Amino acid sequence: MRAALFGLTALTALCFSSAQAQEAPQEAPRWSLAIHGGAGVIERAGLTPEQDAAYRDGLSQALAAGSAVLERGGSSLDAVQAAIQVLEDNPLFNAGRGAVFTAAGRNELDAAVMNGADLTAGAVAGLTTTRHPIAAARAVMEQSPHVMLIGPGADAFAAQAGLEQVDPAFFFTERRWQGLVKALTETGQPIPDRPAGAPAPGDQSAPGAQASVAPPLNERKFGTVGAVALDSQGRLAAGTSTGGMTAKRWGRVGDVPVIGAGTYASNADGCAVSATGSGEYFIRATVARDICARTRTGATVQVAAEAEIADVGSIGGDGGVIVMGLTGEPAFAMNTSGMYRGAVASNRAATVAIYADEK
Ligand code: ASP
Repeated sequence: MRAALFGLTALTALCFSSAQAQEAPQEAPRWSLAIHGGAGVIERAGLTPEQDAAYRDGLSQALAAGSAVLERGGSSLDAVQAAIQVLEDNPLFNAGRGAVFTAAGRNELDAAVMNGADLTAGAVAGLTTTRHPIAAARAVMEQSPHVMLIGPGADAFAAQAGLEQVDPAFFFTERRWQGLVKALTETGQPIPDRPAGAPAPGDQSAPGAQASVAPPLNERKFGTVGAVALDSQGRLAAGTSTGGMTAKRWGRVGDVPVIGAGTYASNADGCAVSATGSGEYFIRATVARDICARTRTGATVQVAAEAEIADVGSIGGDGGVIVMGLTGEPAFAMNTSGMYRGAVASNRAATVAIYADEK
């Protein structure tokens, strides 16, 4: 069944990629940016026109923030961070505000960033009070001698670095809480108390509470956000941010902050990657680093992305990747029915897509 599903979705991914290739600009862009907002079972029948429009609007806002940085000559790192922060603040996506809940009823946030120009990287896991986890990952990279910080220590470091701290209830959204209640009910697990400081049930003024942007019932747990960019100085960067998986337990950490699994960038390899999907499989396949190993030995970013998604699919993983190469041509690949995504370049207007078969 999984093989049949994979066959079908891989085909739609190929359709999407070949359409992208046909639309490729003739000349290499000065700068280029691609983003994602998570992959999963995302089907036309499952989204109302309002929900579809809300997701596209959120993706467009992130592209606008990142492209503004690149257009004024800013760095790929700044663009990746700017785009991701917009998505972290958007309650529709599973990162920052809008993150999924752990089985204990908490939001524990993971993020990573990597600078392809010098292979520096920073990652955080299990944040609960830092508003923008991607900014914390960046601070780890630039202001600490380390690559990965976790838990309260990581939040303390972020606070010391001057990053905005919030009450954990800041990250609460009703839709994600209801997603947790549903997941725990289905698996017969106890439902924790509603978090202290959370809006009252039914409070329509709470972030993400509006019916028009509530999740479709069959939406997968994914919704991670990420960005890859090439700047006008030829530097590649990648970043990813997530709340992880609904009802995660025991301090579970997925692929996102694992450098080489969910996030990787290397100018030497000609590749920047941000992934989204079933993290345990993406870690085992070392997806992001593996894609860059493929481009290093001559594969195009699209071929490398598709081959890697086929590999992770063969061990049971599902999800998608966005990849940026040195020519500024973005690649997208997925073995799910959808991935919220978008791209923009100095010579190409912003485009966004949701379903796997969209051009
Ligand atoms: N990869 C993420 C994780 O496993 C989940 C996602 O992409 O939505 O934590």
